[in-house]
Formats: sequence, C-alpha cells, structure tokens
Amino acid sequence: MEKSLSYKSGALYFGDRNLLDFTKQYSGPKYIYNLSILSDRLVRLQKALAPARVYFAMKANANVEVLKKIRALGAGLDVVSLGEIHRALQCGFKNDEMIYSGVGKTKRELTEAIRMGIYQINVESLEELHRIGEIGKTFNKKVPIAIRLNPDVDIKTHPYIATGLRDNKFGIEMSQVLAVRRELKQNSYLNLVGISLHLGSQMHDLTGFESAIDSLKTIYLELSREFTGLRRFDIGGGLGIHYDDPSWLPELELLTKYSGIVQNSFSKMTCELQTEPGRWIVARAGVLLCQVQYIKKTEHKLFAIVDSGMNHLLRPALYGAQHQIWPLLERSDKFKYDVVGPICESADFFAKERMLSELKPDDYVVIADTGAYGYTMANTYNLQALPTEEVF
Ligand SMILES: *Cc1c(COP(=O)(O)O)cnc(C)c1O
Repeated sequence: MEKSLSYKSGALYFGDRNLLDFTKQYSGPKYIYNLSILSDRLVRLQKALAPARVYFAMKANANVEVLKKIRALGAGLDVVSLGEIHRALQCGFKNDEMIYSGVGKTKRELTEAIRMGIYQINVESLEELHRIGEIGKTFNKKVPIAIRLNPDVDIKTHPYIATGLRDNKFGIEMSQVLAVRRELKQNSYLNLVGISLHLGSQMHDLTGFESAIDSLKTIYLELSREFTGLRRFDIGGGLGIHYDDPSWLPELELLTKYSGIVQNSFSKMTCELQTEPGRWIVARAGVLLCQVQYIKKTEHKLFAIVDSGMNHLLRPALYGAQHQIWPLLERSDKFKYDVVGPICESADFFAKERMLSELKPDDYVVIADTGAYGYTMANTYNLQALPTEEVF
C-alpha cells in the first residue's frame, strides 16, 4: 500500500511498469498516474467506510481519465468551483453526483449550480446561506443545502491545511447555529438536507476528528427534529498519508483506526453518510518524472538541478513537504544532494541534503506520491511550460 515504487534489476518500476518506457519521447516534466493503484485505494476506502458514499475531492486531481475511473468505481465528486463542475460534467458525472463546497462561491457560480440542480451545496457562512436563499427564490426552487460547521478543533497538521479551527475562514461557527436556524425558518427556498465538517488535510492524529463528529452529532439530532429533510451527514476528507515520515502509523493501521471511529460514531444513526477524501485516493497513484540538467558542485553543496520545480509541484515550497525522490537508474555510489528546480526563487527545491544514488546530467528521477495536489496546483511562473500528464 505505501510503496508504489521499487527497483527490479536496477530499473525503477511504478506498480508493474518500467518507468524508462516514459522517457523514450521525453519532452519535459510529466505527471504519470497508475489507475490500478488508484482503483485499489478507492475500493479499499469505500469498503472501510461503507455504507458512506465517497465524493472524491476533485481539487486533488482533476485529470479527465482519473475522474472517469473514479466515476466508474461508483464515487461522486466534491467540487469547489464552476470550472470543476464543468470538468465533472465533461467526465460524465451527473448533477446529483456532486457536492459543491468552498467559502467564496460567487453569485454567478451559485446561480449556475442551482439552475442545473446540483445534489448538495455545502454552505460555509450565514452570508452565503442568505445569498442561496435569494437565488432559490428567483428560480422558485428549493435548494438542497448542508451546513458546514467549524467545531474549533485542532488536528495537528500544517497551519496552511488546517481548516477546523476558530481562526480559519472555513465553516460556520457553532455559536451561529441559532442564527442559521432562523435563516432557514425565514426562507422556504432553503432545504436543509445535511450537516458537514472538514477539519483539514493530512490528518493522522484522529482525536480531534472523533470529538468533532461527537459534537456535530448532537447538533444533527437537534436540528433533525425541526427540519425533516435533514438526513445527510458529511464527515469531510483529510485522511493523511505520510510522504517521508516514519513516525506515522502504517497506512492501513491508520485507515483501520479512521474507519473504526466512523463506524462506531454512526452505528446507531440512520443518516446517509458522505465522505470527501482526496489525497488518500490519488497521492500514491502519481509520480512526477523529470530530468537532471546539471550537477553543480560548490564548496559546500552538491546541487542536482532538474527541469521541474515549484512551478510544477508546489507542496515542498508551500508546506515544507518532503517527497521521496527516486532515480530511474540505481547506481551503487550515494551522495547528498540538494535537488532544486529552474525557478528564480530560493524556495524552489524538492529536497535538501538528501542522500540519493549518484546522479548525472540527463538522468531521470521521479518525485514520488505526487498524484494529489501536484498538477492541479501547477502554474506557469517564469513562463515555464506546464507539465504534461499521462495515465496508464
Ligand atoms: C480539500 C478538501 C477535501 C479533501 O481533502 P484531502 O486532504 O485531500 O482528503 C475535502 N473536503 C473539502 C471541503 C476540501 O476543501
């Protein structure tokens, strides 16, 4: 589960595919996705959380073939923009297979989502709730909404990916539930169908998650007495994977713990359960292939300068993420490299002082576990070309 890469007679394999196959017509950095790894993980997660319905968080990976595979396996999508909704439709997803999340949905986006009859809008503020009510009125449509609550719990993750704390912009504070109730009572175009939470990404200490579900269950039960359409409970996404940190629980143990919490918490509830994982499904199903341009020696350092950087994979610069780096050819000597990109920023590095098998110019390396938040965050800074994508 945790190792998708391995050497066989000195050649690097991704699942059962020799990565050298992808270098034959190399035209620049490329994300490569393995659909069988993706399927294994999605199916495993679906089983662990059953009967919860999986809504894959599309912001993690929006590749068309990846999304079609996800649809074929019976999952829906968590979308966060009109752009993502259009991509979803293009991949065959129906309106009723999408949950629409996000703190900044514009009038134009909401109008379009309501017009097409999206399955559920997860509402992140009183102000948004009001806006949705107004739009519902103009269409004379009852809009199915879930309120995303912010339970103010700490999941001990990087501050940039924590979303369930009081000071985060996400979700509605618990103290505003009364005001939400009032708004729902006043506007008959709002149809409360669900309660939701999403505490952030890279969760691996699950105490906060467990207590957040507990407090939201109380609110769910209270509100469902008053609002008879309330039937759905969305537990969000965020289950973490470790990139290069041996202190984490092994992946399947963490999944078992997570699924145990979910199964226990809802064993006596009759609600329709929803979950919105992104990273856990796709991260390990992708690698970023790139090529060494220079080995630059200075008095204190050995730099391997590659043709990809923070423009293609932002996670190291943004979160200090440590992705494993695997040369396609394994050599017996090892050296300590700073693996850096071409971008004119000192934050443009994939690794510092990393022990790797010897690298030479024109060698290929892959950055591991980059199927999530890789290509979707890529940009054209320095007017460098975007990476390409290939699926097998
Ligand atoms: C990003 C996001 C997710 C998915 O998070 P992962 O860490 O990739 O599982 C789920 N729900 C919402 C609302 C999100 O913003």
